[in-house]
Amino acid sequence: MKLALRSYWHVAAAWFLVVGVYIAICEFVPIGVGRTTASNLLFCLIPLFVNGALLLNAVTPDWRKRTFWMLLAFGCVLGMSGQILWTYAVVYQHRPVLNLFGGDIIFFLHTVPMIAALTMQPHKRSDDRNILYDYVDFGLLLCWWLYVYVFAVIPWLIVAADVRNYIHAHEIVTALENLAFAAGAAFLAAKTTGYWRKIYIHLAGVGAIYTFGLVTINFGIDRAAYSMSELYNVPLLISFLWLATVGIIARQTAEPTTKAAAEKLGELAAGDASQHGSAWTANLARMALLSLPLIGFWCMKGSVAPAAVRDFRILVTLGAALPLGFLAFLRHDLVNRERLRLLRASHESIDNLKRLQTQFVQSEKLASIGQLVGGAAHEINNPLTAILGYSELLADDPMIGEKTRGIAEKIREQARRTRGLVNNLLSFARQAPSEQRATLDVNTIVTTSAQFRRFDLRGQNIRIEVQTSAGIPEVRADMNQLLQVFTNIINNAVYAMQESGGGVLTVRTMFEKGNVVILFSDTGPGMRDPNLVFDPFYTTKPVGKGTGLGLSICYGLVRDQGGQISCYNRPEGGATFRIELPAVPTAFPFAPRSVGAQARSNPAKLA
Ligand code: ADP
Repeated sequence: MKLALRSYWHVAAAWFLVVGVYIAICEFVPIGVGRTTASNLLFCLIPLFVNGALLLNAVTPDWRKRTFWMLLAFGCVLGMSGQILWTYAVVYQHRPVLNLFGGDIIFFLHTVPMIAALTMQPHKRSDDRNILYDYVDFGLLLCWWLYVYVFAVIPWLIVAADVRNYIHAHEIVTALENLAFAAGAAFLAAKTTGYWRKIYIHLAGVGAIYTFGLVTINFGIDRAAYSMSELYNVPLLISFLWLATVGIIARQTAEPTTKAAAEKLGELAAGDASQHGSAWTANLARMALLSLPLIGFWCMKGSVAPAAVRDFRILVTLGAALPLGFLAFLRHDLVNRERLRLLRASHESIDNLKRLQTQFVQSEKLASIGQLVGGAAHEINNPLTAILGYSELLADDPMIGEKTRGIAEKIREQARRTRGLVNNLLSFARQAPSEQRATLDVNTIVTTSAQFRRFDLRGQNIRIEVQTSAGIPEVRADMNQLLQVFTNIINNAVYAMQESGGGVLTVRTMFEKGNVVILFSDTGPGMRDPNLVFDPFYTTKPVGKGTGLGLSICYGLVRDQGGQISCYNRPEGGATFRIELPAVPTAFPFAPRSVGAQARSNPAKLA
């Protein structure tokens, strides 16, 4: 705080020094080359300091704020270039001051980037909108103000040369332009509070004093007493110093960094949504385009300027319609594209939401059924163990008759089957095997699972092709559980293909968006109802062949490893099961590969 106060004193002292030096030059240096040179050089140097003060704030990651300060500084650079040209003409070429000076256009144009800076609305949060928007908006602003200048001022320079008309037209459009800047800053100040309100109020002050300066210069010219070394320039000097002060104030005052703080101070006030900003500039673009025929009409019917000037102005108006129209349409096109992108993004998020909801429902369903089944399986397990034990005793007892032993063996067989089923139920209810996780190479496990089935497929019209991608990262999982999942999916596919007289099961592995993906695609008849296959007890297999628990267990196991499992029927026929497992991060990132590339990488035919 103390530091800030001290630097304000420094700023005030610098103000008094510069203004004092200028007034001293005007008052005490005798009229002549020395006075003109000194005052002009001072005006050339001041924008340099202003630039420095403004650019201090441009070091920020926020593109809105960065562009805002850079555009203000760019305006200053243009002003300085105009001043250097002027100084060259007056001091070096000794041109009389009241002359037709073509470099005036630079003085005029220097305010355009400053108006563009305001359209950035740096008080808003930065969104990820296309930077092309800003170029187009800037182009529109520049084109329109350039058109105004060429329309109003240039005819008096090149069509019907007239010093007085030229200077008056220049001063009027420049004053209007700076008034627009001041009004824009005042408008933004009314819309905001806190930090940014302060900045906008100061900028409105800068614009107002600059406009006032232009009016006093006009007054001086009217009195034919104007030169760069007269006191008429003091307001312009003050406006430059004030602009530098804005940069210093912005640097000294802490800007609220968090969104919460900004909201508290009301700086994200009305119209925060980025579309408000774009609607605002879109309206300006429309107005700029619509103003052309109106100005053209006034030129033809209402203007009292000489015929040559009117012809020139109509030509300029027609010429301006082209770039302005092009930019307005380009902007329209950009807005359309942006809307399409947003629409697509919202569709995507709705799809994701739906998928998430389905997965959530599935997990909930499995969890509640799992609880019920787990409890029941525990209860069944105890008497079952007794049945199995006693039936084994009976079946192995040589003292009892053949017939009774046969019956005991049948009881033992059925009890074992039931125990298998109960074990399945327990593992579905997640009360079975504890897991031992390790970093695993999925390619090896996939190949092993496929090999398990390879032998008993001999003589059948069924093949399993494994296409593993080389260099995919490892996953962290329980090897037995992964083997169980892969074997179950392969067995299902083989069963489905056996039913349809043969086929090919292709197993592919790949790396995609941080996940190791395993795809099982068979050429069987496809699933009857893909939405039901993960439901417990859903089976289309005959009694004794399937329990309908395999895939529900797989679902739980894959989820336990932090992965996802899904399935779909391919349009060309056959079912595909897709498993995604999170890859273990490695020191060397793996480039994502396309399926085609992976298929080529390591095709291993297993049957
Ligand atoms: P089960 O194999 O005991 O029937 P699962 O949960 O493993 O239980 O499978 C459930 C059902 O999903 C199967 O009965 C079958 O209808 C269907 N299914 C699974 N994989 C395939 C496949 N590759 N092709 C066709 N249907 C399949």
